[in-house]
Amino acid sequence: MAGAAARRVRGRGDVHHRGVLWLRGASSLTQVITTLPEVIAGLTAGERAAELLDEQPSVQDRPKAAGLTVTSGRVAFENVSFAYPGRLSRLVLDDFNLTIRPGHTVALVGPSGAGKSTAAQLLLRFFDPTSGRVTIDGQDLRDITQASVRAAVGIVFQDSPLMSGTLARNLRLAKPDATDEEIEYALEAANAWDFVRTWEHGIHTELGERGVTLSGGQRQRIAIARVMLKDPAIVVLDEATSALDATSERAVQNALNRLLSDRTSLVIAHRLATIRNADRIAVVEHGRIADMGTHTALLKSSATYRSYCREQSVA
Ligand code: ATP
Repeated sequence: MAGAAARRVRGRGDVHHRGVLWLRGASSLTQVITTLPEVIAGLTAGERAAELLDEQPSVQDRPKAAGLTVTSGRVAFENVSFAYPGRLSRLVLDDFNLTIRPGHTVALVGPSGAGKSTAAQLLLRFFDPTSGRVTIDGQDLRDITQASVRAAVGIVFQDSPLMSGTLARNLRLAKPDATDEEIEYALEAANAWDFVRTWEHGIHTELGERGVTLSGGQRQRIAIARVMLKDPAIVVLDEATSALDATSERAVQNALNRLLSDRTSLVIAHRLATIRNADRIAVVEHGRIADMGTHTALLKSSATYRSYCREQSVA
């Protein structure tokens, strides 16, 4: 089923490798990265072998690369410049400098194409910088394995994919040995338990075509529960672009606040109302940080930020 889903979304010119589907013309992190333990976990062995033979990784682990050791979860982009392979003449990130202190949330705002999703992709080591370095707790990501980076970083997409199968199976992708109690606890923390508990089979309910259909807000809360269960030190959040109804929105926002609290977080922000309380907001323009501060400070210092707020009617 997931294999079929993967094939359905793939189009001409898309490149698939190491559990990542790069969609030509993709405009958001969600579209760019369909990671996939979700999809990979659902492939049959034969399909998986075919997928892996297909792969053309854009980054390679160094021989004997070490695993990442997360101590406090400090993230740093140091003088990072980056051009996509095949478009080397165009720097998408241009001397990008950003430090996220352990447990802090930094939101990236800026026009479409400014480089926000690209910065997140470098943090997940889907690409290496052309120059400069990205570090987690002082370790240059080029020196450590991709798998250990992705194990340390949780991702919440705008529209996280769920696969068919039970809810418990979906959640155990994040932690295969999770007990039912741990799953229920994660669902509770993600404000999803209130609706799951009403299902006759609870966490053993089938999702998808043969089971329950979920609203957008419910899917998001399940995606949050999955990251809660994974319990990573660092979270990348590609915020939803459109509003849910007010009740769902509140439930999702509360769940996100709980997820991000005490974790180092990089939020790709589309709607300013939801990131007003971020520790810092960075205004990204032409691949660099043009201004940075709290919402209140930026309202005073940044004409660009003020104009975004005006456009989105944020006080
Ligand atoms: P949005 O808010 O629309 O998501 P963004 O600020 O996240 O935009 P990026 O997605 O990082 O911007 O894109 C920055 C630039 O890099 C854009 O010009 C985009 O077309 C280009 N780009 C993104 N992905 C690729 C890719 N895989 N190959 C080549 N160019 C790419």
